[in-house]
Amino acid sequence: VILVLNAGSSSVKFAVFEPGADGAVPSRVAGGIAEGLPDRPVLSVRRGSVDTRSIPLGENCVQPEAIGRILDWVRGEPALAALSAVGHRVVHGGGEFGEPVRVDDRILERLESFVSLAPLHQPHNLAAIRAVGSADAAIPQFACFDTAFHATMPALHRELPVPAAWRARGVRRYGFHGLSYEWVASRLPDELGEKAHGRVVVAHLGNGASVCGMTQLRSVRTSMGMTALDGLVMGTRPGALDVGVALFAMETMGLQPRELARALYNDCGLLGLSGVSNDVRTLLASDDPRCAFALDFFCERAAQEIAATAVALGGIDALVFTAGIGENSPPVRSSIVRRLAWLGLKLDPDRNAANSRELQASDSTIPIRIVATDEETVIASAVARQLRR
Ligand code: ADP
Repeated sequence: VILVLNAGSSSVKFAVFEPGADGAVPSRVAGGIAEGLPDRPVLSVRRGSVDTRSIPLGENCVQPEAIGRILDWVRGEPALAALSAVGHRVVHGGGEFGEPVRVDDRILERLESFVSLAPLHQPHNLAAIRAVGSADAAIPQFACFDTAFHATMPALHRELPVPAAWRARGVRRYGFHGLSYEWVASRLPDELGEKAHGRVVVAHLGNGASVCGMTQLRSVRTSMGMTALDGLVMGTRPGALDVGVALFAMETMGLQPRELARALYNDCGLLGLSGVSNDVRTLLASDDPRCAFALDFFCERAAQEIAATAVALGGIDALVFTAGIGENSPPVRSSIVRRLAWLGLKLDPDRNAANSRELQASDSTIPIRIVATDEETVIASAVARQLRR
């Protein structure tokens, strides 16, 4: 079996897959999450999709220990004990890694050099690789990158308008959420038939949020940049922001780079605008006008980025929503699509309210869909492919 790990600052999500025979899509047989690290740690595990149970973790449980417990649990389950490889979600692969890669010390060192490009995620992703390595030095480990799907972006959508010397140092747009977009791209032919190969805009709306424009199922343009701060308004990140604001914060408000980074990653976005929460469910349930304003702002920016992406594609043949908000929030989808009516997009209110797979109104010229994302299956498939090689 293949273990997939998605390690964050306070949680480690995992999923266990049986590789399909002859290159079939691997099937998920177990999974769970260690959360509340390090102070309120709980490990929840499930076999199949139903039976969840909690395994107590000791106080002050740091990430390596939680990963050790996950490995112990997997190996202690008779049907899962034959663990053959571990796949990791790694947020940044720089310009170098357009494909999943087997990790060794040299690769780990290269991945370390991208930490400043993704300070919120990369250190935890790499710590997880090290934790597995110290628990079992022999098990093959693979890194799968959120940036890789965007390796196909043309120069016009990849370069940033900065001096050549900066660009020579790797300052460019990389894009993120690539594992999610790869999953959606793999589902599009079944969902859309011929149109799948046309101009499709996918909106990944979760705590992190971005849009990606595809043609021929490949990334052409995305809203995130060199780091995951760019583009849409997010839970706690601002998205596209006048860089003069950062200069002002440093020069006039006296923020040091580290404080500025912390504020940009943790205090902005929906949380900064509302002063209440980064969680869309909380904002929707509140009658505080600041919450309604934050949601309005989020939807306006999402619509603007979808439209900008349609410019890059020369039009739009389909719109797809995915991730926590995209899959589950009818009011957010409706507020976004209302702003795009002039492009020919129109939702069916009942289908939208029911989170149906097909959302477009019968007189909408353009299909609008929900595709539930599944980054773990993309990672398991990549690992299975590498093992077959
Ligand atoms: P990430 O993987 O980036 O942490 P998710 O894709 O799980 O994020 O999305 C988290 C977001 O999805 C949160 O803002 C949450 O409020 C939102 N969300 C989840 N379920 C719902 C729902 N039923 N209605 C509205 N928003 C939801």
